[in-house]
Amino acid sequence: MHDVIVIGSGGGGAVIAKELGEKGLKVLVLEAGPWYGNQKWPQPNLDAGGKSSSALTDLNIHLYKELLNKEEMNMNDLVTGRFRWGPADRSKAQWFRNIKQKAMIWQTAGVGGTTQVYTANCPRAYPHAIDGVWPFSYKELVPYYEKVEAELPVHFAAATAKEELFYYGASRLGMNFTPVLDVQWPGYRPQPNAILPPNQAILNSSGVTDEQLSWMEGCTLAGHCINGCPHGPSVDKIAKRSTNVSYIPLALKTGNVCIRPNAFAVKILTETIDSELRATGVEVRNTWTGEQEELRAATVVLACGSIESPRLWLNSNLPKNQFVGKGLVTHNMDWITGIFDEKDLISILGSREIRPFVGNTCGARLDYPGLGALQTTGLSPGLTASFYGLSESGYYFNQNVPSKSSWDVEGGLAGPFLRKWMDEYPRSLSILVTTDDEVDEQNGVTLDPLLSDENGFVPVIRYKATKKSERKQIKLAGLAADVLKKAGAKKVLRSNWPSGIMIHMESTMRIGRVVDSNCEAYQVKRLYIADNSVHVNGLGGVNPTLTTQALAVRTAEKIIETYFS
Ligand SMILES: Cc1cc2nc3c(=O)[nH]c(=O)nc-3n(C[C@H](O)[C@H](O)[C@H](O)COP(=O)(O)OP(=O)(O)OC[C@H]3O[C@@H](n4cnc5c(N)ncnc54)[C@H](O)[C@@H]3O)c2cc1C
Repeated sequence: MHDVIVIGSGGGGAVIAKELGEKGLKVLVLEAGPWYGNQKWPQPNLDAGGKSSSALTDLNIHLYKELLNKEEMNMNDLVTGRFRWGPADRSKAQWFRNIKQKAMIWQTAGVGGTTQVYTANCPRAYPHAIDGVWPFSYKELVPYYEKVEAELPVHFAAATAKEELFYYGASRLGMNFTPVLDVQWPGYRPQPNAILPPNQAILNSSGVTDEQLSWMEGCTLAGHCINGCPHGPSVDKIAKRSTNVSYIPLALKTGNVCIRPNAFAVKILTETIDSELRATGVEVRNTWTGEQEELRAATVVLACGSIESPRLWLNSNLPKNQFVGKGLVTHNMDWITGIFDEKDLISILGSREIRPFVGNTCGARLDYPGLGALQTTGLSPGLTASFYGLSESGYYFNQNVPSKSSWDVEGGLAGPFLRKWMDEYPRSLSILVTTDDEVDEQNGVTLDPLLSDENGFVPVIRYKATKKSERKQIKLAGLAADVLKKAGAKKVLRSNWPSGIMIHMESTMRIGRVVDSNCEAYQVKRLYIADNSVHVNGLGGVNPTLTTQALAVRTAEKIIETYFS
């Protein structure tokens, strides 16, 4: 019997496990995917390895670096990559989601969850998106933000060429520089992110080799953060602070947390005690052997992410609640790219190229409360080319871009035109648009009534932006194009991504609808939720993970006060 079972070890699960373990509770974490860099699983994609691990000394930096080799397909292929949504055994199919629209759902299984691939941007929510909308105030969240920011830790990102160029364009557009954490007004600033500051050896040209640098503490500015970061002297000091290298080592350090990878929770067990329905355990399936077993706990925390948390609720036949799975937001993203001339870059940056892959992937941002945010995004050539192909509009040659548009080209690039844009990749700057999209209960997760896999009925996912969300997205796309033009871009592309690009999924098990303000389910006592799904809204268009983590710290306190004090 455990004090707490936490299901999922990603953005939220790892944090709550550490917080509860630190307070002396015995915590078992069940994680559906593999564990990279733990010596109990020396070949995590080839055989079942050990059963569980609870010792910091099991983490092995040599193994971690060997597995996170930054090869694009090997790491990121959504079907067969190490960072896919599927079982550790990559010869098996990925786990199926039923999506009836153009979409890409980007979730990663494994210890660390989707933070393994995240770009570690850690802004706080916009206060105006919380105050008067959530059942507690922004001010109440601040101490929890501060705690997580200190522990990850969060810093303002270092500037490389792409950030400098972005700041130049934003300032020429008349935007204010606002290097603050609590954002009330529009302005641009360095990205608050969970990436260690660059190692000083890069800056003072001390002659260290790239290999030596990779074994030192601090960011190498090598870029490609999405492929997984292998840079650091030990697992717990890796530069990009995904939860598998930040909160998981801290959880193990408490001596109270045990983690089982390759363990897919298929049912939440409940009992009626003293005339209330309580969570009493979890039925779990070993993804290598298919064996199922029942595990008991005094409290259960769901942290499976915004799709699997409602799916597990529904597959467990928990009480009917019309809001379970409803209200999905995704920040209705878009992608705007500018191409610059060499001579302009020389006069602004003193160099011929931007080399957008260098540095923190998203090192600068422009916040616009009420609309959302813009972020510089320097991806590898492969990912950049694939993102150029994503468009709701169809191919670029079928579009008539109105002459008053801020961009020159719209749509998906292909053929020789795509090749031409890729030839200019070293002189390109791309901006990700994240929109303050509205919660709409038509959007979300339901169960397919017929189709199931080994883990239960599969989730059906729908997201369509509302008219208001679309209008905000177009305004932000125009703003991004204006920043690029002011920075000197000679041509600008608006990709117009399909609204089904799901990278920031939130709000499918909302506070005030499915869980109370302590994040305990209204209808099932001792069942808590600690992932993006509890967000009341999309935080104003701001990256979601820091808020999930701050809430997880708060929820751990509530669990202890309510059941273990
Ligand atoms: C490319 C990319 C870049 C991103 N960049 C950023 C960024 O810069 N900043 C930011 O704030 N956000 C970013 N995000 C989003 C960020 O990754 C998520 O906000 C965050 O990981 C969500 O945390 P979570 O706990 O809700 O879900 P997850 O991190 O997905 O964790 C859920 C975990 O639960 C496990 N699980 C699911 N179902 C079960 C089950 N039934 N049994 C056992 N285990 C289960 C999963 O395997 C997973 O490990 C990015 C996402 C992507 C894809």
